[in-house]
Amino acid sequence: MERILIVEDEPKIADLLQKYLQNANYQTDWLNSGMGVSDWVRKEKPNLILLDLMLPGKDGLEVCKEVRQFSNTPIIMLTARVEEIDRLLGLEIGADDYICKPFSPREVVARVKAMLRRLQAFAHPDSKHETTTAPLLELDRDRLVAKSGQQEIALTLVEFELLATLLQHPGRIFGREQLMTKVYTDNRIVSDRTIDSHIKKLRKKLDEIIPEHEVIHSVYSVGYKFEA
Ligand code: CA
Repeated sequence: MERILIVEDEPKIADLLQKYLQNANYQTDWLNSGMGVSDWVRKEKPNLILLDLMLPGKDGLEVCKEVRQFSNTPIIMLTARVEEIDRLLGLEIGADDYICKPFSPREVVARVKAMLRRLQAFAHPDSKHETTTAPLLELDRDRLVAKSGQQEIALTLVEFELLATLLQHPGRIFGREQLMTKVYTDNRIVSDRTIDSHIKKLRKKLDEIIPEHEVIHSVYSVGYKFEA
C-alpha cells in the first residue's frame, strides 16, 4: 500500500485528507509541524508528501528544501499564497506540484493519484514510457536517475520528465508551454520562468556526469531541444 505523509497543522484539514486518502486505499501518516519532518522522511520513506506551506516551527519552504537534499520523493505543496507558486516549483525549493487552498479533498486525492501514476509509468518498462537511450545518456526510470557510463545523478520527478520528453525527440524544439503541460497537471499559475529554472538545474546536474557535452539547447524565444 502506498504511503502518504501529510504535514499540516490544522487538525480538521488533516483529518479530512486522511479520511479521503484512506478511502482511496492509501496509508496515511500525519505530522502537525515542520519540525522533525526530514528525519521522519529519511526513516520512513513515504511514497509522496503533502506539505502545507504555513506551518509552526519550520515552514513548508524550509522543510521542502531540507527533504530535497537527500530525497526525490514527490512533494505536493498546499498553499493559499498564489504569489509563492513559482518559487515553490522552482530551483530553490524544488516541489513537484502544488494545490491551492481552499481545496476539495477529492481534488487532492485525484492529484495524488495522478502523480503516483506518473511514477508508476516510469517504473514499468512495458508501459508507453519505454526506457529512452541515447548514445551519451541513459535514463533509469525506476530510480529517477540519469546515467552516462559509470556516472549517474539523481533527478526530481519534474527534471526527469523534462529530460525524458526532450530526449525522446532529439532535435525537436519544445516550447515552454508544451513542457509545462507535460510536467504539471494544473499549470494555470505556473510561469515560463519555472521551466527555465528546472532546465537550469537539470543542466547543472548533467554537467556533473557529462561535463564535456552540452545537450540541452535553448532556442531563442521559443523553448528547448535536446541535441548531443
Ligand atoms: Ca497551515
